[in-house]
Amino acid sequence: MSTTKPTGRQGRIENRERNPVWKNPPMRIDMDICINCDACLRACPKPLGAIINYGIDVVIFPELCSGCDKCLPPCPVDCIHPDPDWKPAPDGWWDELDFEDPYT
Ligand code: SF4
Ligand code: SF4
Repeated sequence: MSTTKPTGRQGRIENRERNPVWKNPPMRIDMDICINCDACLRACPKPLGAIINYGIDVVIFPELCSGCDKCLPPCPVDCIHPDPDWKPAPDGWWDELDFEDPYT
């Protein structure tokens, strides 16, 4: 029996790893400024699906974010920034992804 290793977004979720070919750093939302409008969430390309609602917050998984910049123009308060010193997403975010991922 053959097994197929997941690729793309599913593989990144299962391995909790960024795609090594992505040159841009992932984005991070400044929670002190964000107004939770979800505009960035709707702008993030579905194959990337890096943004979710986490409780009352809107958060970006650095492991899923290619740094493509598509979420920047829609943000009405300019609170999304590149994060070259990013830290892994907390376990709680991954747990929430199973239940609230709008892209699967
Ligand atoms: S930079 Fe691109 S992949 Fe990252 S959160 Fe914004 S739209 Fe999504
Ligand atoms: S678009 Fe900007 S203000 Fe709106 S949820 Fe995203 S980061 Fe927050």
